[in-house]
Amino acid sequence: MKRILVVGAHVGDAELMAGGIIIKHSKIEDEIFIIHMSKGERGHPSLSPEEYAKQKEREALESAKIMKAKVIFMPYEDALIPNNEEARFKLAEEIRKIRPSVVITHWVGSYHKDHENTSRIVKDAIFLAAMRDLPIGGETYSVGKLYFAENWEDPINFIPEVYVDISEVFEEYRKAMEVHEFASGKFWGFNYIDYYTSLARIRGIEVRTKYAQALMPDKSWASYREKVDTL
Ligand SMILES: [Zn+2]
Repeated sequence: MKRILVVGAHVGDAELMAGGIIIKHSKIEDEIFIIHMSKGERGHPSLSPEEYAKQKEREALESAKIMKAKVIFMPYEDALIPNNEEARFKLAEEIRKIRPSVVITHWVGSYHKDHENTSRIVKDAIFLAAMRDLPIGGETYSVGKLYFAENWEDPINFIPEVYVDISEVFEEYRKAMEVHEFASGKFWGFNYIDYYTSLARIRGIEVRTKYAQALMPDKSWASYREKVDTL
């Protein structure tokens, strides 16, 4: 049994970019944690951020129930996720509590600064979680592997390299997506469900299966390189 941590910038990011992978692993008794850096509360065309934050929290919990994942909300505001020491220490403390062998987050090549900041915060927090004598609670911990998930807002130089067959869990993945009102495209015209369904099909075709989700391993991590060879 592994512990897997998925960190998304806004409620909906982790679920859409890695939902199939999450469900597949929760079915084999892996323990899955999702950290939402913010709720994404500024994304509604008419509700106030306060009202929409409550809806996003409900949606996060409902889709996590479908995926059998545990949810942690960080206190940062949508559009204002800070790439600073405080955020890195706070996330490092969560990493020390969860002690995941695998972490999945955004790729840094993003059009969205919250996504880019989250990617950088996660990478640095993993580094800091393993270091002693820092103002971080808990015992030091070294994460085994870091992967970046495929997200339509983070496409700059993203290369799909590790494919996970999600054919058997696709219907549950779709249900977990449908919980999120924004994913239907009714707010801004971008139909996330169609996009991620089509993307999963394309990645599936590439590896001769029905549906797949792709990841990119963090190859800048020297100790990781040896491990990737064993996949
Ligand atoms: Zn986002």
